[in-house]
Amino acid sequence: MFDYLVVGAGFAGAVVASQMARTFGKKVLLVDRRDHIAGNAYDHADASGILVHKYGPHIFHTNSKDIFEYLSQFTSWRQYEHRVLAAVDGKLVPVPVNLDTVNSIYNLRLDEKELEHYFEQVAEKPPVIQTSEDVMVSRVGRDLYQKLFRGYTRKQWGLDPSELDASVCARIPVRLNRDDRYFTDQFQAMPAAGFTRMFENMLDHPNITLLLNTDYREVANKVRFREMVYTGPIDEYFQFRYGKLPYRSLQFRHETLNLEQLQPVAVLNYPNDHAYTRVTEFKHLTGQAHAKTSVVYEYPCAEGDPYYPVPRPDNSQLYKKYEELGAATPNVHFVGRLATYKYYNMDQVVGQALTLCASLQGTTRREIIREQPLRQAAAS
Ligand code: FAD
Ligand code: UDP
Repeated sequence: MFDYLVVGAGFAGAVVASQMARTFGKKVLLVDRRDHIAGNAYDHADASGILVHKYGPHIFHTNSKDIFEYLSQFTSWRQYEHRVLAAVDGKLVPVPVNLDTVNSIYNLRLDEKELEHYFEQVAEKPPVIQTSEDVMVSRVGRDLYQKLFRGYTRKQWGLDPSELDASVCARIPVRLNRDDRYFTDQFQAMPAAGFTRMFENMLDHPNITLLLNTDYREVANKVRFREMVYTGPIDEYFQFRYGKLPYRSLQFRHETLNLEQLQPVAVLNYPNDHAYTRVTEFKHLTGQAHAKTSVVYEYPCAEGDPYYPVPRPDNSQLYKKYEELGAATPNVHFVGRLATYKYYNMDQVVGQALTLCASLQGTTRREIIREQPLRQAAAS
């Protein structure tokens, strides 16, 4: 008899399984229909021995000391600050937009004060900021919006920014200074031996039974368990009773090139050219030394594995109906990016999973983090 059947071995499921086993002594059956753990954060050595992320670039960043310390039990870290350049008008310019982005695109020599004034001149002032178009034209004006955001967003989402919530493009800040880091979070790092190794350490516990290549529906009637924690798409759990929730998908084209380095930074964005949105060169993320280099091209598409919830008002209304169904389903708990239909980063999913564990055990998240033995797992 298991205490929990946990569906999905990504961040949400692995944190719940690990936590329930370690802190609360529960017996957990963890299943994933893929042939590996770590969900979309899965990384592995490719045919040339280069560590690559199967489902596109994953960079860990958080402002939560708690969450960083929590994960530090299972990995040591490689300090890494992510940088992205976008190909615009034949130039490579920093993203997020900063002083150098504007000076380079328009051949100007503005300083910070002048850039502030420039944005005041070009910014449009929509009466309310609801969509991703509103938020970007109000920050950088229409021309920069069209050069950097409109095309990329249309490719990535299959929707115009005017059809997407402001929160999508608002993920990308606008800076007056020359800071060209993609993230400014207090903690930015990559697991020293990769995400998959971190997950192996997390799940290495006698109370956890792991079944891969297994859809939970194949086992749910065969094993006994008290409660279920479900991290797959919530509409699928309810057999699409109210219709399909849109999730955006991607196709990944992985390549290994016979040269040491392809591009100056880990990610190049292509807002206006090509069918792909961005190209990632993994050695920048991992620091691995190798005579060859591996890259991935991301081609957005509507059909395929669900990767992104699509933040727009009708989708959140449809999700609310599924959320209500979920809340009325006894002994099943929904957590993670697909099950709660939230465009969450990894650290947010870890936080959400820890909060669920705390509420299931009648304690607080802070308490369960504090109870962890303070141990730095060997990364090798
Ligand atoms: P998932 O990782 O999707 O795990 C869900 C698991 O459930 C899957 O393994 C699936 O196989 C399994 N499952 C589903 N249904 C069933 C079933 N019926 N039976 C059995 N198993 C099932 N976040 C960052 O913080 N930084 C980044 O740089 C970043 N980059 C990203 C880049 C891309 C291209 C994508 C798509 C996401 C990125 N993210 C990033 C987000 C990050 O991937 C997610 O926040 C995180 O992986 C979500 O974890 P999860 O456990 O909720 O979901
Ligand atoms: N975006 C854009 N141009 C860029 C970078 C981002 O238009 O050069 C928009 C786009 O809509 C994208 C969103 O901002 O989907 C969020 O970008 P982020 O890099 O956070 O996306 P993710 O890494 O989650 O795919």
